Amino acid sequence: MKNITLLGATGSIGVQTLDVIEAHPEQFRLFAISFGENVEKALPIIKKFRPEWIVVKNDQVKQHLNSFLSGNHNIIAGETALEEISTHHKTDVVVNAVMGSVGLKATLSAIEQRKQVAIANKETLVTAGHLVMNKAKEHQVNLLPIDSEHSAIFQALNGESRQQIEKIILTASGGSFRDKSRDELKNVTVEDALNHPNWSMGAKITIDSATMMNKGLEVIEAHWLFNIPYEKIEVIQHKESIIHSMVEFVDYSVIAQLGTPDMRVPIQYALTYPERMKLPQSEHLDLAKISKLHFKEMDFSRFPCLKYAYEAGKTGGTMPAVLNAANEVAVELFLKGKINFLEIEHLVAKMLENHDVITNPDLETIQSIDKETRMKARNISGSL
Ligand code: NDP
Ligand code: MG
Repeated sequence: MKNITLLGATGSIGVQTLDVIEAHPEQFRLFAISFGENVEKALPIIKKFRPEWIVVKNDQVKQHLNSFLSGNHNIIAGETALEEISTHHKTDVVVNAVMGSVGLKATLSAIEQRKQVAIANKETLVTAGHLVMNKAKEHQVNLLPIDSEHSAIFQALNGESRQQIEKIILTASGGSFRDKSRDELKNVTVEDALNHPNWSMGAKITIDSATMMNKGLEVIEAHWLFNIPYEKIEVIQHKESIIHSMVEFVDYSVIAQLGTPDMRVPIQYALTYPERMKLPQSEHLDLAKISKLHFKEMDFSRFPCLKYAYEAGKTGGTMPAVLNAANEVAVELFLKGKINFLEIEHLVAKMLENHDVITNPDLETIQSIDKETRMKARNISGSL
């Protein structure tokens, strides 16, 4: 029986992780959860799974939650509380499914305590990949990827050494606007952007998919998780999201991982690795029914965010943290109707242009650059 600490339980990955936990009561127990402020969504989870610990964003949310609960629930608030549950002696596995770079410290602390870490939160690896991976190496912790592309690569690699890899090929669905020209993107709405053709996900990642920033973040995520240079990471458009990614080896043999688009599959694999288990709710892949799979070369001028991510990744240092923080602010402003869709990429580009990179930054430097970028991005967002 593994005790799971689930960061971001009310989110899209969080809820699907709960499905996996519920499907295997003999294997998994929900020990602790965290969420931001969505008390309404958290209450049924708390009542059903009765986690020992609950972490919320701040004291206000704690009070609000307390007013609905009776009995002895341990509710704590804030970012240090995330670290507390992630390093708790009863925690066996930490699933990091929060949105944005808030999960960074909790991930680092969990690694220090040699917890098994299943990571969905790509912003953590983009912001501070070198710190996370160095720590993982130091404490001999395997980071198990939940992101479907990285789970696919992890499965395709299956113990093969890094020297055998010719390249990694990430697939990209193209997001909600894949068939629109740049001209047609000028007046798209938030509602249009949130309508992803293949996956049902949280708002931020759905917008990231439409701008292709999601794939850019995934390129950086793959660089860190698999210790592969950017020159050996390729992206190809594949609109059906059936091939989740591929690895080409030095002998040009290519291993791909396929499946219906269902995040519970990579979530469960990260929890059961190296074993596999039946996943009751999931479906067979029926290739005869799908009949055709499509592939298209990536167009970097159509999707400049992907280009920015490659550049920021190659530059390294604090640049990826700036890319991520600027993008988080830009997406939030777009979702609130304060900037238009194309201004997301303008804002990110401006922040990258104006940043003087600091090489090999420590955690404090990264956190202060993250904060400063968010502030500057908000300030200039009115004058794009
Ligand atoms: P959601 O927006 O659906 O959920 C985010 C979760 O994080 C919620 O539980 C939310 O709480 C919590 N949260 C948000 N902000 C804070 C904060 N400041 N402090 C504490 N908790 C916070 O996101 P997703 O589930 O879609 O994505 C989560 C992560 O997984 C992201 O990094 C994403 O890139 C990655 N990912 C997601 C995939 C998907 O299919 N959804 C696929 C691959 C990767 P509340 O509900 O209270 O706001
Ligand atoms: Mg993905």
